[in-house]
Amino acid sequence: MSESITDIEAIPGLNPKEIEIIQRVVEFFPFRATSHYISLIDWKDPHDSLRKVVVPDAGELESGGDLDPSREKNFYVLPGMQHKYPDTVLLLVGRQCSGYCRYCFRKRLFLQECFDGYPPDVNSCIEYIRDHPEVRNVLLTGGDPLTLSSEQLVEIIRKIAGLPRIEAVRIGTRMLSWDPGRVIADHILLKGLRELRGAQIYVMTHFVHSRELCGEALEAIRLLRCSGAVMCNQTPIVRGVNDSADTMEDLFNALVSAGVSPYYIFQIRPVVGNSIYSVPPLEAYMIIKEAQNRCSGLAARARYVISLYTGKLHVCGLTDEHLVMVYHRATFPQDRGRTILVKRSVANNSIEFFRIGSNLLR
Ligand code: SF4
Repeated sequence: MSESITDIEAIPGLNPKEIEIIQRVVEFFPFRATSHYISLIDWKDPHDSLRKVVVPDAGELESGGDLDPSREKNFYVLPGMQHKYPDTVLLLVGRQCSGYCRYCFRKRLFLQECFDGYPPDVNSCIEYIRDHPEVRNVLLTGGDPLTLSSEQLVEIIRKIAGLPRIEAVRIGTRMLSWDPGRVIADHILLKGLRELRGAQIYVMTHFVHSRELCGEALEAIRLLRCSGAVMCNQTPIVRGVNDSADTMEDLFNALVSAGVSPYYIFQIRPVVGNSIYSVPPLEAYMIIKEAQNRCSGLAARARYVISLYTGKLHVCGLTDEHLVMVYHRATFPQDRGRTILVKRSVANNSIEFFRIGSNLLR
């Protein structure tokens, strides 16, 4: 397993001036990486995409943003459990990650402002699911569920997968990027998945760049697939990391070749410190479209979506005047399947887009 690094001065590729600037940033949002991830970075290139993922940037100190822009707070039905869409509940089982993505959408989990209720009482959550027959999907998230002990995680999955009516249990994890060795060595998890009965297990990976799909990551994917898990990937589109058609094309193709379905591409949410990582929706759409136009149908399956309080908007078309979005998931029944036209000038400005987003897109 990979070593955890939290001291920025232990990073070999940074000079004293960079460290001095970064120290101010980590006072707000801490730094954490793994020796595995650090080894993937090209330290000779100051603009290296993977460096941008973990190395704090002075731009994070710019004002603006919110710690909960999608108002997740409104959807807690029990500590650690959100119920936003009728058929799906989210269980925040892990309040840790092996590394911290600088663009994290739930950075509140790692700060004092965390209101999410951790750890959840899994037995109470199971009771809730039993009492709500409309729930058919459970998403284990956090933080990263794979930061729990294998025994704990397998026990939670076993209990939930065995519930009547539950069709799918999703495990949202970035462990295959931070420390794929954690999975390769984890015989308890792999055996536990193989022996599960009941719901189908989906592992929702979070690869943002094709270079994260190194030999070890490919082996971890292979072992999870052999254990019966279905693999899907969700990535945000991040300024400086994967904001070009070439990078996205490489990522989609690498995923397909590894047996992982490209599933969602997320718009960065306007969380405090995230504005420098955001790509405006209009630009993001054009990058993703260009990449998908060059890919096979298999590689071009991911939907570009924007998560708002009112639901998930699938950004799916462009006219001379508007960016076209359709509610893929809607918080309120009256929005189901609704089409939204957003003026190009608004969609070309992330802050303006989110300012009107949650209120006016209803
Ligand atoms: S893996 Fe997810 S929860 Fe963890 S730091 Fe990255 S974005 Fe945040």
